[in-house]
Amino acid sequence: MEKRSMDQQRIILHLDMDSFYASVEMRENPEIKGKPVVIGADPKNGTGRGVVSTCSYEARAFGIRSAMPISQAFVLCPHAVFLPPQFPRYAKASAEVMAILKSHNLPFQQVSIDEAFLDVSTLKSYSEATDLAVRIKNDIRTQLGLTGSIGIAPTKVVAKIASDVNKPDGLTVVSPENLHSFLAPMPVRKIPGVGRKAEAELFEMGIRTIKDLAEYDIQVLIARFGRSAISLQTIISGIDDDIVEERDTVKSVSRETTFLKDTTDEQVIAATIDALVRDVCRNLSDESLRCRTVTIKVRYHGFVTKTKAKTLLHYTDDEKTVRSCSHSLMRDIFDGCPVRLLGIRLSTFEKRDARQMILKL
Ligand SMILES: [Mg+2]
Repeated sequence: MEKRSMDQQRIILHLDMDSFYASVEMRENPEIKGKPVVIGADPKNGTGRGVVSTCSYEARAFGIRSAMPISQAFVLCPHAVFLPPQFPRYAKASAEVMAILKSHNLPFQQVSIDEAFLDVSTLKSYSEATDLAVRIKNDIRTQLGLTGSIGIAPTKVVAKIASDVNKPDGLTVVSPENLHSFLAPMPVRKIPGVGRKAEAELFEMGIRTIKDLAEYDIQVLIARFGRSAISLQTIISGIDDDIVEERDTVKSVSRETTFLKDTTDEQVIAATIDALVRDVCRNLSDESLRCRTVTIKVRYHGFVTKTKAKTLLHYTDDEKTVRSCSHSLMRDIFDGCPVRLLGIRLSTFEKRDARQMILKL
């Protein structure tokens, strides 16, 4: 793994809050502090449908994980505190955390509700950057009663990996001199964007660690994963020119279409919804976003307009999920009258670092 002098001058700080939703809930209800807390669907004594949105470290000790069916979480820990998500509460806490980061007037980029980068290169040294990280963690603890983990490294990707290795309440500093020894033994799963599926495929190729991946024949990787394998190898070599910058906030992504002739034909309506969903989802991925709210708009003959929205428990950029949600909304509001216009709108976004999608298979 080679290093490049330009990258050694950059110092990037990544903050990731610890079990954010659960910690905010514990702050609001001190009596649940230290208990296994599961945020998500109502478990209904084990018969509930839906999934775990997030959970506290105490709940993780029972094997509970995000996106697990809530009924399974109930089996693993029936005495856990199960709470419905309160997104306005988390958004407010998020704004408080981000205000602390922004107060240092350094290049800032929020990447999700509880994650952000700061470019601290102007501090010149890793020890100065570490002092700042300690100060930020302290401010978050004393002013907000929450904890976060920080990674400091020469690039965004490595800073993100670093913030994850000592959770909760961690502070991990990877200086350019330590970059190689830090990354080499790391399991490939630690690379942002390498999920279970990509991990399994890499294992099959005999690639278990970042070192294995970095040393693998790039031509073979390209044949298997496409051109993105090149950026993957550069990123894990500590070469990454991705800069910290505030990206434009997109409030919503929408598409609508007016029929030439009002229609009640359910096949035409369904095919139109599919086409609209395809368009908005493409737009979503162009913007590197994931959404949580899907809204359908139907204008009937005579300009009577109805809309209906559904907010999902998880952020998604999955076309299939958006499509099935749109069809179910349509079933709810379609009254059989001739339709003049159909529209789909996606909102409530989470920014995602485009780099995170590199090995999404
Ligand atoms: Mg987090």
